[in-house]
Amino acid sequence: MRPDILNPLFAEVETLKGVGPGIARPLDRLGLKRVKDLLYHFPAGWTYRKRVACIDEVDVGTNIIVQLIIADHRSGGSSRSPLRIHGVDGEGNYLTLTFFGRNGGWARKQLPIGAERIVSGKLERYGDELQIVHPDHIAEAGGKGSPPLIEPVYPLSEGLTSNRLSMLVAQAQDRIPTLSEWIDSGLIEQRKWPSWRSALATVHQRDDNKARDRLAYDELFANQLAMRLVRASHDRVTGVAVAGDGNLAAQLKLPFALTSAQRRVIEEIRGDLAQTKPMLRLLQGDVGSGKTAVALHALLSAVEAGKQGAMLAPTEILARQHFANLQSMLAGLPINIAILTGRDKGRVRESVLMGLADGSIDILVGTHAIFQEAVAYRALALAIIDEQHRFGVSQRLMLSRKGRGVPHLLVMTATPIPRSLALACYGDMDVSQLDEMPPGRTPVETLVISEERLPELIDGVARHLSGGGQAFWVCPLVEESENSELAAVEQRAELLRARFGNNVALVHGRMKGPDKDAVMERFASGQAQLLVATTVIEVGVDVPNASLMIVEAADRFGLAQLHQLRGRVGRGSEKSRCILVRSKAIGETARARLALMRETNDGFRIAEEDLKLRGAGELLGTRQSGESPFRIATDEQVRDLIAAASADARLLIDRDGGLTGARGEAARVALYLFERDAGVATLRSG
Ligand code: ADP
Ligand code: MG
Repeated sequence: MRPDILNPLFAEVETLKGVGPGIARPLDRLGLKRVKDLLYHFPAGWTYRKRVACIDEVDVGTNIIVQLIIADHRSGGSSRSPLRIHGVDGEGNYLTLTFFGRNGGWARKQLPIGAERIVSGKLERYGDELQIVHPDHIAEAGGKGSPPLIEPVYPLSEGLTSNRLSMLVAQAQDRIPTLSEWIDSGLIEQRKWPSWRSALATVHQRDDNKARDRLAYDELFANQLAMRLVRASHDRVTGVAVAGDGNLAAQLKLPFALTSAQRRVIEEIRGDLAQTKPMLRLLQGDVGSGKTAVALHALLSAVEAGKQGAMLAPTEILARQHFANLQSMLAGLPINIAILTGRDKGRVRESVLMGLADGSIDILVGTHAIFQEAVAYRALALAIIDEQHRFGVSQRLMLSRKGRGVPHLLVMTATPIPRSLALACYGDMDVSQLDEMPPGRTPVETLVISEERLPELIDGVARHLSGGGQAFWVCPLVEESENSELAAVEQRAELLRARFGNNVALVHGRMKGPDKDAVMERFASGQAQLLVATTVIEVGVDVPNASLMIVEAADRFGLAQLHQLRGRVGRGSEKSRCILVRSKAIGETARARLALMRETNDGFRIAEEDLKLRGAGELLGTRQSGESPFRIATDEQVRDLIAAASADARLLIDRDGGLTGARGEAARVALYLFERDAGVATLRSG
């Protein structure tokens, strides 16, 4: 249960004065639902103003505060032309205040002729006149409410002004309780950090690193603490020891010998599985390093021991592909493997559910549907999560409610996460690395060309296809909306169809599952040679005959994403190419990033360099794609502070895996504040 002291912060924004549905909606669009969300809605920048007696003192472009006597009102001739109000400053200079649209009536009332007013806004030149368009503040001279010298600029959404938001933030600030300090006092002193309460006030008043760092640290700390608590309770529950005898693995007839990295990782996993303490292991391996074969061996161990295994893929396409792969690798073995996705309904679904419940199904592959409430396993001993970056503490808890005992868990990822971020996302997991590629791969050759050379590129594709090759054509990431992304990919498909006819297949995220599968099938079987796609093909898709990858507007993609895309080729014996098409005019950083792609195929190097190439304050691509588990801490702050947060959290947990003492109690409040209370839940039950 959430501590009462936090209740005012968790109240809905509607409980603030002046918040009706008209304001609640734009707030909601910004993700601001509760009072605390407002407090953590930090300014994106600041307006600095200069108080002047006369407008000659400053340059055009300055934000000024000036006192004026209102001289006249001048409407333009038509209803479309703006209202111009003239004021006179202390030296007799004229300043025009310009109002467009429907603000005229309101402005006339605020600025009656002869009145003394203090106004603020950006000084501009308009013909011979100096003007301010839509002053941001208007106040009576000598009264309260004179415009501030520094003002936060908040991220906004339509229907919400910065002033309005500032007022709501101020109201929210009145509700900040005084909480006991949860950060180690030595660290607070060393960093000269303010208290939580004072930091929350300061971030809305001025640009202050210490306050922002402190608040970011809080979030990292709560996260680390939650993970450690879950881990501590995890370590104390008993799962099912799975000691496979290797007899099924011995019957496998794979078309290749395992690499030594694969053999090592398989042994690590088998070692974990043989314990009653449930495994909690992350398998990192670059695209194409052969994680599926490792997963297969882990699943076989479970089946050899008479248990069940399940493998979760993030998308329908990948689930089907895994299923087909595993099925073919398992050919001839006495194993029953099934697939279950959100699309399976009625009889099909029923029969799978029955097979899981009575144990006749040994291995299940599917999308998130496989861990839903209604799915009961007879003896689930191992869960494998593939390519799932957002697998957090809460999903883990959901899993632990499946079946008797907590199943062993293996998370597989190809995303080369830099070490600092890995600690943040998976700090509590054991890590295995597939640091060796299967032999016989020729590295993918990467080229960067300008979009102006598109016609040449299409000729090149024509040659590639007529030689019997297949190719991927990835369309630009369009940020404005899903609709414009769809438009872009359809347009491109049309252009390519004009040249290559029916040889072109098109797949995008808006298509229905069965349609997507049909298209992928057409491409995988070679009926279509060119696959035009949005990034839905990003993860996992395996078509070894495709040896050409084209990525349009490559400068818009994150490096990790480009690396993933490139990993779709270079899977066969043939030499593969990846052509990154860049926009005509790109900046220094974009250029350097693409050059890096050309230079190396090493995913870890790419991830580290990517982090270095990003300027201060810029976000790691992971956050945009929802990979970062943090809302407050920027990636830079994660890098700087995560190790300290991790150590601090470790210190706080006692030998029985609980939180004790005054600081432990304070930290418990922080867990609730950051909604990481899953950790507390396990504390209780464990
Ligand atoms: P990822 O780690 O990206 O999931 P996959 O498991 O899809 O990689 O493997 C990529 C390709 O490499 C597959 O075609 C697979 O059959 C092949 N492969 C896996 N292990 C080996 C190996 N030891 N030797 C040769 N080929 C392998
Ligand atoms: Mg894979």
